[in-house]
Amino acid sequence: MATVIEARDVHKSFGKNEVLKGLSLAVEEGEVVVMIGPSGSGKSTFLRALNKLEEINSGEIAIDGQNINQPKVNIDKIREKVGMVFQHFNLFPHLTVMENMTLAPVQLGKMTKSEAIANAKKLLDRVGLADKADVKPDTLSGGQKQRVAIARALAMNPEIMLFDEPTSALDPEMVGDVLAVMKELAEEGMTMIVVTHEMGFAKQVADRVVFFADGYIREEGAPKEIFDHPQDPRTRDFLDKVL
Ligand code: ADP
Ligand code: MG
Repeated sequence: MATVIEARDVHKSFGKNEVLKGLSLAVEEGEVVVMIGPSGSGKSTFLRALNKLEEINSGEIAIDGQNINQPKVNIDKIREKVGMVFQHFNLFPHLTVMENMTLAPVQLGKMTKSEAIANAKKLLDRVGLADKADVKPDTLSGGQKQRVAIARALAMNPEIMLFDEPTSALDPEMVGDVLAVMKELAEEGMTMIVVTHEMGFAKQVADRVVFFADGYIREEGAPKEIFDHPQDPRTRDFLDKVL
């Protein structure tokens, strides 16, 4: 199996605040990694660094074997491969759902407009929102917005999907629909890193659970090992609070 994401000894500070203190993680093609850990520990910073939304101070991040921290790297190409879904959806409010979905593929020259529309229709159907193509995001529920955001990321045909607490801003009754879409993606073989507090999802879907705290990965393993037999006292303490 190919390693599609490789982070080696990544350091990142904001001023004096060192957030990532030598984080290393390798993710194989088709693997689903769930990342858990306390709030403010740097999980979002790490995901953002994988997409170069955040510059790291030292270490190395490779996507498909390509070091993305070299100055000459084409960041648009990297972002084509790495889709990202955020807690707060980040849809363009002035555009319809269809326009949200076709903007990037057309602007980046990945598809013609008619190809992008056909592809978007298929994806909207898949996330159960075929009838919402022409509405603006503010007419949708949170769960519907997040499913649009996932479909929009998929519209670029990414190889990797990063999810940053995709259900944290949702009313409880909306969470299941979004997790179901993510579960289906995982079953289809998408390589995914998911930051979430949904431990049920982690147990069911993750190949590997990574506990992140104090700037690096404290512990990782199969969901059963991490949840049933956590070794690190920090992991135990965290799980006591969330489970
Ligand atoms: P998590 O996602 O685990 O909650 P974050 O990655 O969002 O953690 O944040 C980790 C730390 O980095 C926090 O102390 C946060 O305040 C700080 N931080 C994140 N982004 C910035 C930024 N753009 N400027 C300054 N500090 C930041
Ligand atoms: Mg975060």
